[in-house]
Amino acid sequence: MPRVAFIGLGRMGRGMAGRYIEAGFDVAVWNRSKAKAEELTALGARWASSPADAATDVDAVVTMVADDEASRLVWLGPNGAAAMMKPGTLAIECSTVSYDHALLLSRDLNGRGAIYIDCPVTGLPDAAASGKLTLLVGADAVALDRARPFLAPIGSTIRHFGPVGSGTVYKLINNLMGAIQIAGLAEGLAIAEQAGLDMKLVLEAVQSGVTASPQVLRHAPRMIARDFADATFTTALRHKDAAYALQLAEQLLREPPLVTRAAVEAYAYATAEMPDDDEGRMIELISQPKA
Ligand code: NAP
Repeated sequence: MPRVAFIGLGRMGRGMAGRYIEAGFDVAVWNRSKAKAEELTALGARWASSPADAATDVDAVVTMVADDEASRLVWLGPNGAAAMMKPGTLAIECSTVSYDHALLLSRDLNGRGAIYIDCPVTGLPDAAASGKLTLLVGADAVALDRARPFLAPIGSTIRHFGPVGSGTVYKLINNLMGAIQIAGLAEGLAIAEQAGLDMKLVLEAVQSGVTASPQVLRHAPRMIARDFADATFTTALRHKDAAYALQLAEQLLREPPLVTRAAVEAYAYATAEMPDDDEGRMIELISQPKA
């Protein structure tokens, strides 16, 4: 039975870890807050006392945590997974981290004999729970082939962009473009609201117009109805992704990335007010009449 350590049981990680149990893997789990592991341990996962404990004697370690800092801690911290991984263990980082962090982590873990796979994902928590994520992989081809049995339970599509780090580059541009669309939609709808337009009509027009991307189609009705009951992606996570994309843009582009900077600023503003709320709730801050 393949053995996997799964670390990080937030909105996404809980469902992903559950997929390994359903697929018959021997699963050890760890999360900073233990309560989130209860459902999985009831299904047969072993609770590990630390990431290092989870990584003991497994074939692959998979992580799904918030950001660079959390990723650094669970892999390389004092009780991090790296401390106990044996040479040849697959190290699969699914969290959205910065490009620099992905490269640093791969160098460190490969230096210890692990096989690092850059594997951020797209898809919401329901896709995570049903194994339908799209996996954005950066890895050499041999490492990817070795990892495939460990990717199959969590993803229905693998997009292999190239060497380690390339999956993260794509993930960051994907979420940057999403940030720009959502923040732009919030400001557009706020202007329409404050101008007194019939928002039912505005919604119909948006849904059938040329700017109706999947992001816009998802968020427009929720923003207009102020219905954020099914929060799946928080303002703080969107800000983090846009900020990581900005770092990369500033390293790569000759011209200043003005729109990227604006998106980071919009999400910094929203995150200061509502970090753990749905990313679309920023409209409540923006749609206020001018004093
Ligand atoms: P979440 O529900 O906020 O979960 C975050 C996870 O990170 C939790 O397990 C949390 O532990 C852990 N964590 C945070 N800080 C930590 C620290 N300092 N040390 C150890 N663990 C720490 O987030 P999520 O929505 O599952 O997202 C997880 C990752 O997937 C993020 O990188 C996100 O950008 C990416 N992502 C999310 C979605 C989505 O739709 N939500 C889609 C694609 C990709 P606690 O439980 O103890 O807080």
